[in-house]
Amino acid sequence: MRATHLLVPNHIEPDGGEHCCICGCPTSAALKGRDYFGDTFRDYREMQNRLSPYICSMCALSLKDVPGGVVTYLDGTTKTPRSEKRGLGWRFFSWVLEEGKAPIGATKAHCKELRDVMAHPPVEKKFAIIIADSGQKQLIYRLDAQVIPSGGTPYLVQFETEQVLINAEFWKLLGIADRIASVVGKMRVLEPANYLFLQKCMDAYGESFAEDYLYFAQREETATARLCGFLALADKES
Ligand SMILES: [Zn+2]
Repeated sequence: MRATHLLVPNHIEPDGGEHCCICGCPTSAALKGRDYFGDTFRDYREMQNRLSPYICSMCALSLKDVPGGVVTYLDGTTKTPRSEKRGLGWRFFSWVLEEGKAPIGATKAHCKELRDVMAHPPVEKKFAIIIADSGQKQLIYRLDAQVIPSGGTPYLVQFETEQVLINAEFWKLLGIADRIASVVGKMRVLEPANYLFLQKCMDAYGESFAEDYLYFAQREETATARLCGFLALADKES
């Protein structure tokens, strides 16, 4: 089941004998995929059933605007569109989706709250965490809803067009990214490793930090490190 099916709590898709071109779930012939894809849609590899002309109501919804036009953020605040004519597209936000609950949004200003959710994801319930950076691409339909049996079980999050496993190594890298961010600034965490940064970090944390710095440097080209760069919090922010 794709994460799109978590967008509306307790939604049941009508089964009309057709299948959704994106997620492959049974659906009716009510909606045509071509009415929802922009001219620039090229993500055919992400489609489970690309020969079907039909799209289910949840995948269709995920390509449009948030219904009702209001996004509720992780910190409880809300965002409304500037005008009634301009809706808020799902793609502009990060999302925490959980079965039976309304979607909760996040922006770059909510890294701390997003990290809290990622450290304590829903257990024994379908959920999906989608993290947008650019706001340029539709992301929700790319990820499967997941269920984990207990806290600490690894799971995948969608970060832009890549999927990142949230496991012990991720949290170790994020901890290192936080410390690098505290010294050189969050914006520079993903800059290529260099001796100037290493020296500044060792001045701050001692020579033993060289091992951690190199651990991050060896992984700086990975999606995991990119997500850590996105979520890193310098001392003064955390
Ligand atoms: Zn679908």
